Amino acid sequence: MLNFPGKTLEFVKKHLLHQQREVNKNLRGIEEDDPAKSPALAESSEPGTDSYIAESHAKRVILQDQLMKMKNTIRLTLSKIKIGTYGKCDGCGKWIEGERLQALPTAQYCLSCSRKTPRVR
Ligand SMILES: [Zn+2]
Repeated sequence: MLNFPGKTLEFVKKHLLHQQREVNKNLRGIEEDDPAKSPALAESSEPGTDSYIAESHAKRVILQDQLMKMKNTIRLTLSKIKIGTYGKCDGCGKWIEGERLQALPTAQYCLSCSRKTPRVR
């Protein structure tokens, strides 16, 4: 962690912990008001209701998936802070650019690796 002053790391950690709380809160919210799980709506026989439920359920599944991914990334980043490898590129092992981490604290790859593999961040 040569290029990371303790203060910066502490800030990133705080930011991630806050984000983690938000993500968990959103995930709970999604589970709670999924209409597909609500007995009142599921039993309704009104026309169009089924497709409405299916559609909004599908949207929730996508959102839930995104939140789960975010949750995993946050957890991964926090564990990297803990073991002291935060800021190292998963691709080439070099340090990720400081500005990049500032813009995207959960970045797992340096700029050149993320350019080589457009799907990774
Ligand atoms: Zn790299």
